[in-house]
Amino acid sequence: ALRIGVLELQGDFYEHEAMLQRCGVQPVGVRRLAHLLDDRGEVLVDALVIPGGESTTIGMLLDELGMLEPVRQLVRPPHALPVLGTCAGCILLAREVKSEPQLKRIGCMDIEVQRNAYGSQVDSFECHVRSEQFADGEPLRAVHIRAPAITRLLQPESVRVLAAIEGRPVIVQQGNLLACTFHPELTTDTRVHQHFVAMVRARTRKAMPKST
Ligand code: GLN
Repeated sequence: ALRIGVLELQGDFYEHEAMLQRCGVQPVGVRRLAHLLDDRGEVLVDALVIPGGESTTIGMLLDELGMLEPVRQLVRPPHALPVLGTCAGCILLAREVKSEPQLKRIGCMDIEVQRNAYGSQVDSFECHVRSEQFADGEPLRAVHIRAPAITRLLQPESVRVLAAIEGRPVIVQQGNLLACTFHPELTTDTRVHQHFVAMVRARTRKAMPKST
């Protein structure tokens, strides 16, 4: 069975876990390094979800718990651990954060983000987004809560935009990394998580020797 870790340091991890369960996956809570790696250095999860919340807090905790560098290593090739980051999680994945280069983060995805991009007045809003990737059924309900914006693709040839609102990317994928500026976990629509689970399954199949 797939073991999808959910980072439980701060934020809406519970909602991600409920969502994964609805996708038929039993989530694994990750609160410290020992939940990711055993003492022989074996990786204990097939993927990691970084929830929405406060990116500065989650980044600081990752650092203080000695998890930041190990997670960075796991995300890079050759291991290339699949990661889904929503909202704060998207910020933690971004290589560049506008005007906050010091923000502690994994920083492995070739996107530039701006935190709280929608201003204080309308910093939370909901809209619907149509996307070719998620074309079956209704448009996605995009719940933005003090959301970041993806302001630039730093490697446009390797970052795929799965959904955009008014020309601004809101779901992007680069290899095994999936980032979303909004909170699919706060809806009942499982499609974004299902897409992530499919990414993880595809990779896990590749990584495992064929059993005969
Ligand atoms: N504003 C938060 C941040 O900058 C993100 C908000 C969220 O995750 N809903 O980290």
